[in-house]
Amino acid sequence: METKKKDIRALTKDQLRNFFVEQGDKAFRGNQVYEWLWQKSAHSFDAMTNVSKETRQMLEDHFVINHIRVDQMQRSSDGTIKNAVRLHDGLVVESVLIPTETRTTACVSSQVGCSLDCRFCATARMKRMRNLNADEIYDQVVAIDNESRLYHDRPLSNIVFMGMGEPLMNYNNVLKAIEMITSPEGLGMSPKRITVSTSGVPKMIKKMADEEVKFGLAVSLHSAIDEVRTSIMPFNANFPLKDLREALEYWYSKTKNRITYEYVVWKGINDTQEAVDALVKFCKFAPSKVNLIEYNPIDDGEFQQASEAAVTMYQNTLERNGITVTVRRSRGKDIDAACGQLANKQ
Ligand code: SAH
Repeated sequence: METKKKDIRALTKDQLRNFFVEQGDKAFRGNQVYEWLWQKSAHSFDAMTNVSKETRQMLEDHFVINHIRVDQMQRSSDGTIKNAVRLHDGLVVESVLIPTETRTTACVSSQVGCSLDCRFCATARMKRMRNLNADEIYDQVVAIDNESRLYHDRPLSNIVFMGMGEPLMNYNNVLKAIEMITSPEGLGMSPKRITVSTSGVPKMIKKMADEEVKFGLAVSLHSAIDEVRTSIMPFNANFPLKDLREALEYWYSKTKNRITYEYVVWKGINDTQEAVDALVKFCKFAPSKVNLIEYNPIDDGEFQQASEAAVTMYQNTLERNGITVTVRRSRGKDIDAACGQLANKQ
């Protein structure tokens, strides 16, 4: 019976060095292979041209490289690109490249499906099938960086964890991926250009604060009133706003990083003065910024974008209270690449 070969990128650099020593080779060989695996993003052992044929065969006998494959690439009329990414076990996730005049942003997935149950999000309907490994997250970034260079003549400038999945429910792998994305042994990107977006898992926000991470945090708030938030994001019943607020206060005290709130205004749900006032109050305990996101319909009209007047009311009230607010128009809608539309429809 064939024994299952190990994913070589699950090994740390030290483990890889030790492996070579155990094989009677030099530890230094581990450094060379590590560089191929991450910095040079090799898809096969055969690509490792400064490693001998025998060594490549030996690696082949022990390990696999579970590289992702971009199965399908769709380009929107506004320049947005969506990749359908096939994983080694056949499952598919999506990632998106969003170009603007000043930046190109990769929106990457952290899970196949999602463990949470936001009622307005297409991914939530897929259920969570599994967590992505760190190398599968890393590969999505490399693929988008290549596309950015090819189609937009510039490297990727920013990364947001706003694709499929809840990044804080796959904490270790997301942090390991970020470590490799920011390491000079990987892509060498600045952590300041990375934002992790969460529906709000208090315990994990605190853990992240304790590790004094250098990347940004966005919270998908959508309501600062518990009953309303629970009705659209049912898991809020287990992680109520009080706990979320306490965790965010802790995050700010440790990192001194301003918090971004993602917020959609829906007709008949949170388009009231009471809802805005609650948001203003929620924003006051730590420096923050609000992104008002346009709703991307995913269904039969249960949720509807609020009127322009309601969005303007939000904008004015927030500004009057000294809170930075941006109104974000959707990108890539024609190819189902906008927020909340990722569901492997193809
Ligand atoms: N689980 C993480 C990241 C994925 S969702 C999180 O919740 O933050 C990325 C963003 O898209 C979140 O702010 C989410 O609330 C928002 N979103 C989900 N469905 C949407 C929809 N149909 N229209 C607009 N935004 C949506």
